[in-house]
Amino acid sequence: MANYNPYENMLHVLDKAAEVLGYKKNDYEFVRYPERELTVSIPITMDDGHVEVFSGYRVQHNTARGAAKGGIRFHPASDENEVKALAAWMTIKNAIGNIPYGGAKGGIKVDPHKLSQRELQRLARGYVRKIFPIIGPDKDVPAPDVNTNGQVMAWIADEYAALSGKWEPGVVTGKPLATGGSLGRNEATGRGLLFTLETWCEKNHKKMDGLTMAVQGFGNVGSVGALLIHRQGVKVVCVGDINGTWYNPNGLDIEAMYVYANSHGRSLKGYTEAGATIIPDMALFSQDVDVLFMAAMENQLNEKTMELVKAKLVLEGANGPTTEEADICFEKKGIEVLPDVMSNVGGVVGSYFEWVQNRTGYYWTEDEYNERLKIKMRQGYEDVLALKEKYKVTYRLAAYMLALQRVVEAQNTRGFLG
Ligand code: NAD
Repeated sequence: MANYNPYENMLHVLDKAAEVLGYKKNDYEFVRYPERELTVSIPITMDDGHVEVFSGYRVQHNTARGAAKGGIRFHPASDENEVKALAAWMTIKNAIGNIPYGGAKGGIKVDPHKLSQRELQRLARGYVRKIFPIIGPDKDVPAPDVNTNGQVMAWIADEYAALSGKWEPGVVTGKPLATGGSLGRNEATGRGLLFTLETWCEKNHKKMDGLTMAVQGFGNVGSVGALLIHRQGVKVVCVGDINGTWYNPNGLDIEAMYVYANSHGRSLKGYTEAGATIIPDMALFSQDVDVLFMAAMENQLNEKTMELVKAKLVLEGANGPTTEEADICFEKKGIEVLPDVMSNVGGVVGSYFEWVQNRTGYYWTEDEYNERLKIKMRQGYEDVLALKEKYKVTYRLAAYMLALQRVVEAQNTRGFLG
């Protein structure tokens, strides 16, 4: 896997989607390249007085449909290729969600767990100072991703205000309520995944109640998604995070795990439960369950793990958890994949709702927010399904086809090809 390049992986699917749509190279070549890539160096004085320089990235993949939009992650493995792929997936996702945004993503190469809160704040502010010229409510709007949260977004909004001289909460989404955040945003990605699984069950004449599930990743996406799905009667027998993998054949106590993780910095380290055992991490992939819910990182279902999978359905909460090879393997085996760009779109649709509220200054109730989220999630699913059935392709290919059609149409209508 050493040479795995997620951007190449994305391009292969995009090219396949173009081929099925009958597009020629000229029709979509521009979508194969990011519009703008920025690499920055962020010098930080650490608490003990020594200076460290961190590398940061912001990639704006495409802005044909509107301002660039996408999260920021803090991770030791973050690099140009990862951020580029994540930015492109945002273009695809925002088009499927049919929200008025293009795609972007950002990252800082850092292990945030090794930094104090003060160091983390300095790093977030330093990053904003470097990317300030290219962000703004109508230019590029960041949001949380792996290892970033509402607090980091609040620092970003504050640093942006200090530099621009005015408070514009719509410059970043996923903020805490006190700084212009929205009710419902924190749960939006997980809730969107619930709506996706619910719709899949309806289309396949299945009941959620009684399904079994294994979950990789128990952070924002995994813990909320697992909790909401579990509350609909799904038995979650296996949960893994970076600290280990927990198994209980009678169903794990997801409510307790959720409370534990959220009171331990989104970590399951040290979690115990009567009847639950710790099993090897690889055993998660081979669980004999109905649904394998991927909610950690990209590239997890790959040539090493794909043959282990016994689940009938893969629900992608993470971005890019399935490599191209694994996708082909699953298609052959009849394992259906509900792809990231369709299933986890709730996060960015929820961010869009927050941005709309910031810009109008009128704030919705949580019920209003969740109801609108449900409508958007279902519409995206129906639009993808219509292409899937028309062209007899996988959900992923249909999703890329839908997005490509929408981006190309916007680009052609604007006529901004050189
Ligand atoms: P998070 O940092 O809150 O959680 C990540 C989780 O993955 C943690 O539980 C961590 O322990 C676990 N993890 C990391 N590496 C692992 C490994 N090798 N094996 C097992 N577990 C591992 O991040 P998040 O916001 O929940 O994001 C998770 C995924 O969902 C990412 O791919 C992200 O891009 C994607 N995503 C996030 C959002 C959002 O709104 N937060 C929206 C759409 C997509």
